Amino acid sequence: MPRLATLDHRHLWHPFTQMRDWLRREPRVIISGKGAVLRDVNDREYLDANSSIWTNLHGHNHPKINAAIQRQLKKIAHSSALGLANEPASLLAEKLVEAANEIHGSRFTIYDSTEKLARKSESANCKLSKVFFSDDGSTALEVALKLAFEFTRRTRGTSVGCAYSRGAQPKFLSLEGAYHGDTVGAVALGHIDLFHQSYSGLLFRTDKVMSPYCYRCPFNRAKPERADAREYRKCNWECIGKVEQKFSAQKKKRNPYAAFVSEPLMQGAAGMIPQPSGWLGRAADIARGHGALLIADEVMTGFGRTGFRSALNSQLSTSLFACHHEGVQPDFLCLAKGMTGGYLPMAATLTTQRVFDAFLGEYDEFKTFFHGHSYTANQLGAAASLASLEILQSHESIRARARLQKNLHAELQTLWRLPNVGDIRQAGLIAGIELVKDWRTRRPFDLRERAGIRVCEAMARRGVLTRPVGNVIVLMPPYCTSMAQLKKIVAATHESIAATLGG
Ligand code: PMP
Repeated sequence: MPRLATLDHRHLWHPFTQMRDWLRREPRVIISGKGAVLRDVNDREYLDANSSIWTNLHGHNHPKINAAIQRQLKKIAHSSALGLANEPASLLAEKLVEAANEIHGSRFTIYDSTEKLARKSESANCKLSKVFFSDDGSTALEVALKLAFEFTRRTRGTSVGCAYSRGAQPKFLSLEGAYHGDTVGAVALGHIDLFHQSYSGLLFRTDKVMSPYCYRCPFNRAKPERADAREYRKCNWECIGKVEQKFSAQKKKRNPYAAFVSEPLMQGAAGMIPQPSGWLGRAADIARGHGALLIADEVMTGFGRTGFRSALNSQLSTSLFACHHEGVQPDFLCLAKGMTGGYLPMAATLTTQRVFDAFLGEYDEFKTFFHGHSYTANQLGAAASLASLEILQSHESIRARARLQKNLHAELQTLWRLPNVGDIRQAGLIAGIELVKDWRTRRPFDLRERAGIRVCEAMARRGVLTRPVGNVIVLMPPYCTSMAQLKKIVAATHESIAATLGG
């Protein structure tokens, strides 16, 4: 084994990894990357088919991001945001605020995707104008969680007509299968038993509501077809009824939910579970109708990942954020992963003036938000993020993303020929392929059979790297992926499913 692999085996503990399995085989030690390609210590090349766990946007070693970091490095790498401002963080905050308020060009006049009715959002309250920087997706959620909790404690009871039991703590509602990170607050918002159950003794209680998983929805009366289950489903939007029921029941307890937390359009770690068109707008309307704040976890979906949608008012939505595709403007927008283009760990929680104002006061009122991290607003991360945003907003990148979205869709259709493919779900530049024993029955593989893991290992042998989420193969290539590379990714997926599951 190369020395680096030996050192890894001797000392490293890898995330979300059974280390006994890990220690059985030689790890791939990545030495360099260029565009969509990663190269290992043995000089083997791989396509980075999940963008290094959903982080990389424009490819590795991008000349513009490299140059931006190098320019910043000549000035300073880091100074604290506790007591000091800095150049790239100020510039980045301005750009993020601009991007986060750009919905279909027409700010805040929002059209319901199905009824095509003008639905005015609470425009004055919903402008995202304040940015709190942190380190990663989990911390971006922790910030939103703490701010929403304290904002609610400070302001509820002030609005007329809302009855609250005295002393009740603000409560949160999130989705079944929710994953919002691995720090304790973020885990409390999550609902994946496999990851979260062991730590229940550490957590505060949050409620969960049915998420719209059309493929396995008990209310979907449609027989399996060779198409995305969202397209052929037969139901009466019972999932939305469940959201309404939750909010109403909680209101009766005289402690309406403080906030509704969701991953807009696509739940990632739950198994790439996409929401049917119209779900998010409806759920957001219900939450708002009950006075709840909206927390959008766009850690995975942000920065163009959910591509372009044309459903809204026949306009092509070029917004960088998934919630805007459904005309929803949250009170908290949580960003991380792709923010720096996948270069450095940096995150942001955007919120409104209304929330910000609840923390203003004289020094000795101690209304300060007592929260922060050593590397908050780090200059290198901010410089990379600024460069990444500039690339994202260029015509060249917009064209490349639109092309990739279309080509990904076309290529994925070839996988329907495989009997072990039950559902293929795509949201823009994210795709999940659910493996089943037989598509006609939708019978799932037991997790212990490691179907997803075995298929991904077979893909790696064919030079394509990704990781499964349970029985779901994730394809989320960097935006620079060429047509030839995309064809190779999907062909490797095809061959690997056929060779491994043989159905
Ligand atoms: N939210 C979502 C939707 C995520 O997908 C993730 C990470 N996969 C997180 C939060 C946590 O982000 P991080 O791993 O950067 O802490």
